[in-house]
Amino acid sequence: MKKIIFVLVATWMSFNSMADVTYQVIPLPQSIKLDPSGKNAQLIKGQVVSYPADNAEMKRNAQFAQEFLGLKPQVAAKKVKTPVNLTLGLQSENPDAYQITIDKKGITIQGASESGVFYGIQTLRKSVALEEGDTISLPFATITGEPRFQYRGTMLDCARHFFPVTFIKEFIDILALHGVNKFHWHLTDDQGWRFEVKALPELAKKGSYRPYTIIGSNVGLGQGDPIWDDTPEEGYYTQAELREIVQYAQERYITIIPEIDLPGHMVAALSVYPNLGCTGGPYFVRPYWGVDPDVLCAGNPETLKFIHTVLGELCEVFPSKYIHVGGDESPRDRWKKCEKCQNKKKELQLDNEAQLQTYILKDVEKFLSQHGRELIGWDEILEGGLSEGATVMSWRGYKGGITAARLHHRVIMTPTDNCYIDYYQLKNQRAQPHAIGGYLPLSKVYAMEPIPSDLTEEEGKFILGAQCNLWTEYVLSPKHAEYMLLPRLDAMCEVQWLQPDQKNFEAFTTRLADMEKLYRKLGYSYCTAYE
Ligand SMILES: [Zn+2]
Repeated sequence: MKKIIFVLVATWMSFNSMADVTYQVIPLPQSIKLDPSGKNAQLIKGQVVSYPADNAEMKRNAQFAQEFLGLKPQVAAKKVKTPVNLTLGLQSENPDAYQITIDKKGITIQGASESGVFYGIQTLRKSVALEEGDTISLPFATITGEPRFQYRGTMLDCARHFFPVTFIKEFIDILALHGVNKFHWHLTDDQGWRFEVKALPELAKKGSYRPYTIIGSNVGLGQGDPIWDDTPEEGYYTQAELREIVQYAQERYITIIPEIDLPGHMVAALSVYPNLGCTGGPYFVRPYWGVDPDVLCAGNPETLKFIHTVLGELCEVFPSKYIHVGGDESPRDRWKKCEKCQNKKKELQLDNEAQLQTYILKDVEKFLSQHGRELIGWDEILEGGLSEGATVMSWRGYKGGITAARLHHRVIMTPTDNCYIDYYQLKNQRAQPHAIGGYLPLSKVYAMEPIPSDLTEEEGKFILGAQCNLWTEYVLSPKHAEYMLLPRLDAMCEVQWLQPDQKNFEAFTTRLADMEKLYRKLGYSYCTAYE
């Protein structure tokens, strides 16, 4: 008899939990207030979702409700009651804030702005994603959510390996699912130039091709016999493709911040225009990894002309306020021995070669500001003195970000120890595809606090947000990229959305189990274990 009761209770409980939507998704909403009445509203496939007239973004949001929830978009009319309403006007200083109200009037998703409505739709979508059938019972509730940080980024490197447009769109879908609003796109590097520049047609055509690539771990030549993979790596994005991707991202409230890494990480460009290097070359698109000594010549006037041409077209294609110009890992050995660079140093009365880099970046910042844009650079841009409006991306720990915030420069935190998702995610390296090294488990991403405690409250306001970076030296395919990204992006997502006192790793992993089921449904690859 006891056994029978147990079986009955277990069956009832599992039925109950199947039918119960808890709204506990990733990122966790700030507040979920279930109505004590215990009543439900019905979300029925094919029912109408209304949106305000004459608002193209809200119409697009209604189409997302159609795509994610199976609803039928319709312009709101005064006298027609609709079961699902998308509206604006939520009182909040945070434009990304949303409120979902489920009561006897139906389901209302209200945003402080259009992006807030979009995030509300994503939360509802994730809440019901695992429910079966055409009618889903939603407990009466009021759910509110808003992100902690205005800058919620993810970086993808498409220079070391090229990823097709179809994957870039899927990548954007994944970011949108996680409430990310900045896609930092690393488009050029020593190993490939992926951005079409119309005034320099040879640049992407030739600079995007390398005939072979080193296999396995490597930090450069002369360290044992390298083994080569003879499959050519090639591909670049045309401006037409990029414009299409920019719009695709915009519709999902994601700004693409393109990066042209300079004055280092430029060998792919030097291979096409060897006159821009200090030695004159010849140079070859780099088939292995590590930092290359060859960089743009700081003393050659053609260098600035080249940068202006590239950035001019970049600004035409990407409407982002921020343009990333790298500035990292740019060795100064060539500049020390180059006559042109040394003459420039004398002419400008500079003390050292680091200031030559600042000279280039100041010019770049002026150029960008003339185009109404602002400069982001890796934390090395602090070394020769920071140009006035520069935003610093702190990657070598938190130190650069702390220094920059104290100087009242804006900062994005992306320290290697918490944010470099090209590292292994499990201790047992053999259980994972070959990676660059390092160890960044899910829990360590989750534990990240973007605002260091040694900053004052005032200084802390200069921390715009955080992002994780996916470098792709060893990431060879879209499926592999997904595996590196998921589920560590889930952890980053809660860093970006939740206040520190709302975070709880144990509870997060419970919610993650549902997210993984959704990944299986959507066909995404992900790391099934976590530490
Ligand atoms: Zn030079």
